[in-house]
Amino acid sequence: MSDFLRTRTGYDGNEQRPMRYPEVPEPLKVGTYDNHTHLEIADGDEPLTVSQHIDLMKQAGMLGAVQVGVTLESSRWSAEVAAKEPMLLAAVALHPNEAPLYETKAALDDAIAGIAQLASLPRVRAVGETGLDFFRTEGENQLELQLHSFEEHIAIAKEFDLALQIHDREAHGDVVQTLLRVGAPSRTVFHCYSGDLELAELCEKHGWYLSFAGNITFKKNQHLRDSLLAVSRSRILIETDAPFLTPEPLRGRPNAPYLVPHTLRYIAGLTGDSVEDLAVQINSNTEAVYGLWSEGL
Ligand SMILES: [Zn+2]
Repeated sequence: MSDFLRTRTGYDGNEQRPMRYPEVPEPLKVGTYDNHTHLEIADGDEPLTVSQHIDLMKQAGMLGAVQVGVTLESSRWSAEVAAKEPMLLAAVALHPNEAPLYETKAALDDAIAGIAQLASLPRVRAVGETGLDFFRTEGENQLELQLHSFEEHIAIAKEFDLALQIHDREAHGDVVQTLLRVGAPSRTVFHCYSGDLELAELCEKHGWYLSFAGNITFKKNQHLRDSLLAVSRSRILIETDAPFLTPEPLRGRPNAPYLVPHTLRYIAGLTGDSVEDLAVQINSNTEAVYGLWSEGL
């Protein structure tokens, strides 16, 4: 099984970006989890293998990560690595930009049935990332397939009692409407939270989780900091969405789960908690959503 299913291309539109993986940060005294990462994407001058990622995570004091699929193939890969690696759990789904690539609804439904099969495996703990992406969506038909796919993924999460990891890009209103219309799974996570105060308050009200990525450290993203401070600590998760969204001061370089300590320390600076207390809280939230990493091997 090869480590890489795809290579990161042109995400920043900046080919000059530094391609070296950053140094390992000062190790955490209380380790924590990255609840959303993509280790199947090769990035940097020298892409890291899964075992290198795991080794670096250990050096940084990290406890584990959720490896997230975006296609049937990468979801299968995620389930396979999580079945073997104690520090990884898996999330499986067709990404909202992948779903409309199927030419017919029947072909999409076949792929979704494949996702449902993976959802029954003991190391698969979430359905995701699924949701709605209006940023890169063209035409009525695409929208219809995205929405159909999202609803089917919600149903799978409920059927197998798994967490739901939502990708919501410029689609806050429709994501919330869909969740309320069909009924949200009991553990629902807004991955790479991108909303404003209003959505944060809705999440708090409905018991949904906000997962913050490295972009909370970007200067322009005051709405993310405001959202974080508006919700109770019990709603907060942390992620990388690696290899994307590397936190400041490393922005632009390849990202990886071992870099979570930068984001954790930054968030502790915002909330005024000690880094250790914040890690304890985030760990309790993370384990409530995904279960224990030690189980199901
Ligand atoms: Zn992602």
